[in-house]
Amino acid sequence: MIEMSYRLPQQRVLHTALPGPRSQELAARRKAAVAAGVGSTAPVYTADADGGVIVDVDGNSLIDLASGIAVTNVGASHPKVVAAVRDQVERFTHTCFMVTPYEAYIQVAEQLAELTPGTHEKRSVLFNSGAEAVENAVKVARLATGRPAVVAFDHAYHGRTNLTMALTAKNMPYKAHFGPFAPEVYRMPMSYPFRDGGTDGAMAARAAISRIEKQLGADSVAAIIIEPIQGEGGFIVPAPGFLPTLAEWARANGVVFIADEVQTGFARTGDWFACDHEGVVPDIITMAKGIAGGMPLSAITGRAEQLDAVHAGGLGGTYGGNPVACAAALAAIEVMKDEDLPGRARHIGEIALTRFRELAQEIPAIGEVRGRGAMLALEFVRPGTTEPDPALASAVAARCLQQGVITLTCGTYGNVIRLLPPLVIGDELLHEALSVLCTAIAELGTAGR
Ligand SMILES: *Cc1c(COP(=O)(O)O)cnc(C)c1O
Repeated sequence: MIEMSYRLPQQRVLHTALPGPRSQELAARRKAAVAAGVGSTAPVYTADADGGVIVDVDGNSLIDLASGIAVTNVGASHPKVVAAVRDQVERFTHTCFMVTPYEAYIQVAEQLAELTPGTHEKRSVLFNSGAEAVENAVKVARLATGRPAVVAFDHAYHGRTNLTMALTAKNMPYKAHFGPFAPEVYRMPMSYPFRDGGTDGAMAARAAISRIEKQLGADSVAAIIIEPIQGEGGFIVPAPGFLPTLAEWARANGVVFIADEVQTGFARTGDWFACDHEGVVPDIITMAKGIAGGMPLSAITGRAEQLDAVHAGGLGGTYGGNPVACAAALAAIEVMKDEDLPGRARHIGEIALTRFRELAQEIPAIGEVRGRGAMLALEFVRPGTTEPDPALASAVAARCLQQGVITLTCGTYGNVIRLLPPLVIGDELLHEALSVLCTAIAELGTAGR
């Protein structure tokens, strides 16, 4: 394993209670200037970040188990990404690929063809956000098939734009009062082993397929879109066989199989993409978050015949594939390869799952420990039941934050703590963060219950 070096000391140090006085000042200014609808997990304002730490404006050094929602897989200021961005920004910040194109866009597309599952001929398009990638994947699928319907799943999260709100399952906070939503989106049951009685994956897929055939008819379906491990919905890992069975049915019925790997992609789950785990080859894959070391970039990569079916000018956007973001992506991808970040993700997963499974033996409020690679979750329930306990998840996250460890919650029921550490976090710092988390769970998970 390669030796990591860092610019900032990799330590947890608290000089003030959190949030400190400077963060509180910024919070007051924010309240008067920033719309209330934008939330923040941790009310500590960032001054610097590197490796596994975030330093706030009061000089506190916190351990980062969020990576800005699975974005800074290579860290928030990897020297290779910083150098690539600096070099590009000194030459040109933007020309628009649709006006005068540039090489970095092509290089990113070449990398995506190499890294995404499958050896077929591929084409890519670059955008800015995950939601934009998802919207465009659906555009391509509808054009390529000439069909209207799109199938999404329970617990799905695909973004906050109009079409992606329709695809997203959870009403509050993502959809409530923001409708009407885009039509021709149909929701099917997901394989959720903890909550569906551990139904076999292929059987769960056949239940969804039967419903698609009965309610829609295969020949009206343009695409199935699915996150191979669901993110916001609760880090739900479908039972083995679920994804391959759906993908096989899609292939046999001329339905485009879209894997939304916006959160799972780029080494996060211990493979380059989560689909790799079961050898599933999607027709179109959507990517964003981890792709560019923190710079805004997203992409779709898919079968040449489907992508090239779109008429000239049908795909694009002013900023899509911005040259600075492309330079960052090329550097981040090189780092993921050179530092074997898929291997690091698996290593992080082994460390954390071992500790969580031990803890789960003692704490019945832990309903399930799950995840793959460095995409890990603990689902909290009322002991002896599967009844969700969102209050416990929030209390654990709050206790961790007080002690300088940033975690995220998620889940349809809000009862899941999820971990998405930067893949470059050192073992020692990771263990320290896990100790804080496990202690918080042990204390809060037994207190008064
Ligand atoms: C975050 C996310 C999106 C939306 O990405 P944005 O960049 O926030 O638009 C879409 N799909 C999945 C699976 C995500 O996790």
